[in-house]
Amino acid sequence: MSGEQSSLSSSLSFTSASPAASASAISLYARATPGFDQRVAETVELLRNASAKYGKGLVQSSSLGVEDMVITDLISRHQLPVAVATLDTGRLHAETLALLPQIEQRYDLKVQVFSPVHDAVVNFVRVRGEDAMYDSLALRKECCAIRKLEPLGRMLDGRSAWITGLRREQSTNRAEVPFVEFDHVGRVKLNALAAWSWADVWHYIQTFDVPYNALHDQFMPSIGCAPCTRAISVGEDFRSGRWWWESEDAKECGLHKAHSNEDLKKNPGAPA
Ligand code: SF4
Repeated sequence: MSGEQSSLSSSLSFTSASPAASASAISLYARATPGFDQRVAETVELLRNASAKYGKGLVQSSSLGVEDMVITDLISRHQLPVAVATLDTGRLHAETLALLPQIEQRYDLKVQVFSPVHDAVVNFVRVRGEDAMYDSLALRKECCAIRKLEPLGRMLDGRSAWITGLRREQSTNRAEVPFVEFDHVGRVKLNALAAWSWADVWHYIQTFDVPYNALHDQFMPSIGCAPCTRAISVGEDFRSGRWWWESEDAKECGLHKAHSNEDLKKNPGAPA
């Protein structure tokens, strides 16, 4: 376990069943650390450069998680003309969906919502069952393909670049996430918070009073679909509440499959 993961685990001092379960995520995690202002400035520069370079070809793909709320706030605060989009898989928590009108009201923008193809979902549920994701890894991935990957493809269709909230600290799989990379089709992907810590994210949320998913106050640091997300306990790592019945290696839905940075070095047009 890395030092950062270790410090995250030690900061998760309560389980969801503890008497202190009502403590807010801000009170638990927000912390000003050296270099915070510099990390914010670097992220703003990245977003500004990307906005100038890609214009309408740039989109923020928001999971509505806390990292993405930071990015949406930065886009709005710095008046960057970047579209904000999200996926509604049909299995999201009510708390996640409740953020949409809050974002639209707070930032005076329309979030573009992409949903799966209705017939594909109906057919999958009829043949495989409502909760087939628990039956096998293949069925879980099929569900993710129908409810996430296909609509993400439509969200990114015609775009040159997209912005995500991936951070290196989130998991060992993400430990080397760069600021700029290529996705699996060679589109530029900007991981605007790659170098931010969990404490940074919450310090920003607190400082700028950014709205966030109420489930973060219930020990869910990483939030996906309702059937595939649970609260984590002391000592568990950041993404252990996602697809918790699967092995560590499997815990991605395919949204963030990337090409190597060797490809990026060959692309002279990518923003630094
Ligand atoms: S996270 Fe779970 S419910 Fe959501 S698309 Fe994937 S398998 Fe289906």
